[in-house]
Amino acid sequence: MPDPFTSPVETVAEIPALRKLVEAERKQNASIGFVPTMGALHAGHMSLIEAAHRDCDFVVVSIFVNPTQFGPNEDFEKYPRVVEQDLVKCHEAGADLVWLPTTEIMYPKNFSTCVTVKMLSQVLEGKTRPDHFEGVTSVVTKLLLCSLPDIAYFGAKDYQQQAIIRRMCLDLNIPVEIKTCPIVRDTDGLALSSRNAYLSEAERESALSLSRALKLAEERIHAGETDLNQLTAEMQQLISTTPLLKLDYATIVDAGTLEEISAPQPDMVALVAAYAGATRLIDNCLLSADATD
Ligand code: AMP
Repeated sequence: MPDPFTSPVETVAEIPALRKLVEAERKQNASIGFVPTMGALHAGHMSLIEAAHRDCDFVVVSIFVNPTQFGPNEDFEKYPRVVEQDLVKCHEAGADLVWLPTTEIMYPKNFSTCVTVKMLSQVLEGKTRPDHFEGVTSVVTKLLLCSLPDIAYFGAKDYQQQAIIRRMCLDLNIPVEIKTCPIVRDTDGLALSSRNAYLSEAERESALSLSRALKLAEERIHAGETDLNQLTAEMQQLISTTPLLKLDYATIVDAGTLEEISAPQPDMVALVAAYAGATRLIDNCLLSADATD
């Protein structure tokens, strides 16, 4: 029989127990950092925990594969669940407490409330995954209300998600500062994602076209490109002609409103989404028409 696993970091499941532990820290004037995740942690997640550890006295990480943000034909069932490995990584990155709520804890019988952020949730990912962001915003609201952090950390990898969460916290006066941390990539440019584990070697190779399309956008804007329609057409072409990839979108939008733009402006973001086989991949890159370096 394998040895029983001993977590290197304190864990908690129930909400009252979580609240008690956070409250005790607060009483000692500790600042609270919070990093929500779905587990299967990689260096991208760890960079968020490390940032929280640098900024805050007490760092809470949640691991919860939230069923309501998966569509009916998506990968909820097969999403990787490796809690023991995750706890080791949380400890290494500087987490003080890992919250592991069950689905029953988060969604007890008769649960009926959801939080919808209009507009920002309806474009890009929202077009292909119509209920996804409602699942995200509803669960993040609960996670924030249960952990009551000073600062919550999100990755720029999910650019639209962090924009929606910022909007939500402003609109609902949720008293938390949102920090967005840079995208962590493999050395070849592929953005780290828990879903990369699904990719075959050939799919992974093809997936590099996403970051290459973003690089193309970055270089061309830097070189003074003004025709964004032409540029996005080239990004789309690069992805859609890659074997094993099915393009969803490749576009350049206003970094704040996420509305499509046809001419360069100071704050823009290039976003791409494609399927590599059955695996949905997203990536993005902030662009600035003012870039001088
Ligand atoms: P997830 O476990 O996929 O829900 O992600 C949890 C958090 O980690 C989200 O805020 C993501 O944006 C962030 N994240 C995921 N991948 C990366 C990455 N490659 N670089 C930085 N942050 C990431």
